Amino acid sequence: MLRIDVITIFPGLFEAFCDESIVGIAVRTGRLEVAVHDLRDWTTDPHRTVDDSPYGGGPGMVMKPEPLVAAIEALAGPKGPERTARVIALSPQGERLDQVGLEGMVKEQALVLVCGRYEGVDQRAIELAVDAELSIGDYVLSGGEVPAMAVIEGLARLVPGVVGNPESIATESFQGPTLEGPQYTRPAEFRGQAVPPVLLSGDHGAVERWRAEQSSEYTRRRRPDLLDTRGAREREKQS
Ligand code: SAM
Repeated sequence: MLRIDVITIFPGLFEAFCDESIVGIAVRTGRLEVAVHDLRDWTTDPHRTVDDSPYGGGPGMVMKPEPLVAAIEALAGPKGPERTARVIALSPQGERLDQVGLEGMVKEQALVLVCGRYEGVDQRAIELAVDAELSIGDYVLSGGEVPAMAVIEGLARLVPGVVGNPESIATESFQGPTLEGPQYTRPAEFRGQAVPPVLLSGDHGAVERWRAEQSSEYTRRRRPDLLDTRGAREREKQS
């Protein structure tokens, strides 16, 4: 079972998220454990302060190192051989998350996800207590909570037994160096648009070939970069 501890100043954001849909199923069936912690529980002043103004001036506030490092060490132990969980800080400056990264992370037994806010986290907390920084893309959100949810949901899908039919994962975008092609359901015709006849033919071989062609075509047209990067990384992993 994978355990994920989340450190945030907005624990309430995770309530419905951990209860509903695929993450809720993973948690209820005991395949995933998610514990959400309020960073303010590790503050020591009466105002439960987690931020302060930046040294050197400039806009916004910075997350203080003391409560963050205390929280991380309480949940994962000190950095080094005694560490009990991999600690990941969500940050636009981190390595970009992709499916290969999720496949690596799901093999961990325990993760701690650190959600930043404001202008980010005091660098000393990152260096002293964080194992890796992870970005969910080249854009800036106001906090690490939505990025942490993206990581948790991406991982929940990969925990064995959570997605009922493992084949649905195997054929999805990014499982190989391709995107999945188009999908159709009833009715066979909608507003003058017919479902491709091969999908109604009952010929499973022809359907598989058509799906493979569509998948290659979609990838070539929409994300030709995947054919280089994911393909190259896959080959690197196998060598
Ligand atoms: N000052 C930072 C910068 O320019 O790189 C941005 C800080 S952002 C407003 C506040 C927090 O949101 C970050 O510390 C991080 O936890 C989270 N965050 C924002 N965008 C993110 C992204 N693309 N990936 C992961 N985390 C992100």
